[in-house]
Amino acid sequence: MKDAPFAAVAGFPVNHSLSPVMMRRWLDDAKCPGEYGRVEIAPSYAERFFKALPELGWAGVNVTVPHKEIALQCADHATDAVKAIGAANLLTATPEGTLKADNTDIIGIEAALAGDKTDTPAVLIGAGGAARAALYYLARQDRQITIVNRTRKRAEALAATCPVSIQISTNLNEALMGAGLVINATSLGMSGQPALVPDLSTTESDALIFDMVYAPLETGLLKQGARSGRRCVDGLEMLIGQARPSFEAFFGVRPPADTPIKSTLLKALGQQA
Ligand code: NAP
Repeated sequence: MKDAPFAAVAGFPVNHSLSPVMMRRWLDDAKCPGEYGRVEIAPSYAERFFKALPELGWAGVNVTVPHKEIALQCADHATDAVKAIGAANLLTATPEGTLKADNTDIIGIEAALAGDKTDTPAVLIGAGGAARAALYYLARQDRQITIVNRTRKRAEALAATCPVSIQISTNLNEALMGAGLVINATSLGMSGQPALVPDLSTTESDALIFDMVYAPLETGLLKQGARSGRRCVDGLEMLIGQARPSFEAFFGVRPPADTPIKSTLLKALGQQA
């Protein structure tokens, strides 16, 4: 008899990841055989571990910080989106014994930004891995894009990877004037990190404010957005959106549509806090 598929989230550290909670709930609700764990892999072991996945018989792994770039380098095949972003958050073992890289953060961002008007000026805060995926989303639209990042050089390097024209700024409040979409792709606002509370009063009156941070769920940025009457989207929308295609890739079925997955995660976040 074939073993039930096994998958995990791999990172360093990885204890904080909510992926096992989400996957377990979907496996139970779908009555699907399968296991999903978490593996803490130090950077010096990441390459060996990823390359061994097909031989180990694992269905694959979700990849989180700091392994998304090395994950792509270990793969035998990669989708165009992964190649463009330069980072993978999903590795799956194929029946032929090879390793395939994908980036479902894009799908998570698209799900989170379902209410985006797509033609308004966009401000992307950050220039790390998550910002790369957000820029891939933004660059496919005809809109003005401004990247604001603490380290200007990093923002310039990110903009240089993109075929469309991008403005760079280190003055957030200035960049926000007239913005219709604001994305926080930095760790600012996370528990233990400095807050991000810019002036949103000059953004469009129905601007969409999306914070990728989900611990805490209601960040300073989102509180400020709500106070200013702007539309707000929290980081769990992206987390859930990126996990759905991963679940299907590992276990061969879609996550049940009627699972109250957000309340499952909110409960888990409450227990972590
Ligand atoms: P990363 O590659 O390490 O990038 C971190 C970014 O945050 C950089 O732009 C960095 O600026 C900035 N930053 C960090 N500390 C800062 C500070 N004190 N002041 C100003 N800027 C600071 O991390 P990442 O993978 O892109 O993740 C970024 C955030 O997105 C994290 O909060 C992560 O949890 C979140 N995320 C959420 C999801 C989701 O599903 N909701 C998915 C992926 C990521 P410098 O370039 O100047 O260092």
